[in-house]
Amino acid sequence: MNTNDILARLQAKYPGENEYLQAVREVLESIEEVYNMHPEFEKERIVERMVEPDRIFSFRVTWVDDRGEVQTNTGYRIQFNSAIGPYKGGLRFHRAVTPSMLKFLGFEQTFKNALTTLPMGGAKGGSDFDPKGKSNGEIMRFCQAFMQELWQCIGPDQDIPAGDVGVGGREIGYLYGQYKKLARQYNTGVLTGKGGTWGGSILRPEATGFGALYFVQHVLDHAGKDIAGKRIAVSGFGNVAWGASIKASQLGAKVVAISGPDGVCYIPDGITKEMIDYMLVMRASNRDKVEDMATRFPGKAQFTAGKKSWSIPVDIALPCAFQNELSEDDAKELVANGCWCCCEVSNMGCQPGAIHYFQQNGVLFAPGKAVNAGGVATSGLEMTQNASHISWTAEEVDSKLHQIMQSIHEQCVKFGTQPDGTVDYVKGANIGGFMKVAQAMLEQGII
Ligand code: GLU
Repeated sequence: MNTNDILARLQAKYPGENEYLQAVREVLESIEEVYNMHPEFEKERIVERMVEPDRIFSFRVTWVDDRGEVQTNTGYRIQFNSAIGPYKGGLRFHRAVTPSMLKFLGFEQTFKNALTTLPMGGAKGGSDFDPKGKSNGEIMRFCQAFMQELWQCIGPDQDIPAGDVGVGGREIGYLYGQYKKLARQYNTGVLTGKGGTWGGSILRPEATGFGALYFVQHVLDHAGKDIAGKRIAVSGFGNVAWGASIKASQLGAKVVAISGPDGVCYIPDGITKEMIDYMLVMRASNRDKVEDMATRFPGKAQFTAGKKSWSIPVDIALPCAFQNELSEDDAKELVANGCWCCCEVSNMGCQPGAIHYFQQNGVLFAPGKAVNAGGVATSGLEMTQNASHISWTAEEVDSKLHQIMQSIHEQCVKFGTQPDGTVDYVKGANIGGFMKVAQAMLEQGII
């Protein structure tokens, strides 16, 4: 395999699909050496097949807003790879959603899901619908219109969507309600992230953030460090930032920054339980303003417009918001201010220049597909509970989540340990995920 040749061909075929090309480049660069040691992969063109989604559904979503105006958006579902199980991955509702964004996310999901040790293929979907400023009724009507098309593409043994940016428990509720009505199927396993009384798993809302902090603990432990007392900058204030803040605080660390599109809130004494609870209120308001935290907790949270969480001096940076949210300049500022660990909790949260800078400067760095896999892993646990018509206790789910994060860390160490004994988590996660999917594709023939 020649990474540059494959990328040049993809670039010519999909010009402007920058996020997708960025995600493919990162994986191919990490696996090239291992790939070339397996002539059977090359013979069956595993990489050429793996970078193309199995299929893409694209559909019009028309709905009526509160003023009675007709609105039209575009919806997508990308079924990326089913080598190790049915398609699995979230739905993203955000104004900037494009096929490129969802292809990058579906591609990443394939390797992430492989790392979880559970039998799940990779998928992603969503819409360019912007939840900002929308009423509850508008959200419901949009979800219903979206499902009007999506229901034909999904099923509990076929493709199981969940949440992502802009899609949480409320949206999953509206989507599931409409699915039942259209499909006349009452199997709750068709979606994950459901409410606790109708098939949702305990701890699914917290799982991405909790799993991320368990992974951070393993990274620190492996490097002979401890999380207690460390200062942490989190970005965003959505579901992922919320779960990460709860667990970081429980583990004795101090979350001193959260952020939004409008700026950063610096919380010198560390985030409190009341503030963490208020993040849910801020999310439900659809205002998308982190300044609301400073307004609600004057003196405790200080808002600065136009700044990111990466401007605050911390030990550990946890991007929890959106792809490419941390640039090379941000990485330089973090390192200059003493940061020595960055774990991506958002998918592809760091730009390639930032990752390079962290790695060159001895910062412990781990990529999203390993760090945030606890979310989809707990979705996998929700599917198991649904399929066997039982619900596990919080202790059972949490202990399984712990085991899974530990196993992901072990895979990273196995495939990413360098001659000097340090771990390249990017390489480890990419090779670990890739080997599993590649082997399954090989065994299933040319399809
Ligand atoms: N959207 C989440 C992710 O990026 C969760 C997907 C799921 O639970 O299916 O992994």
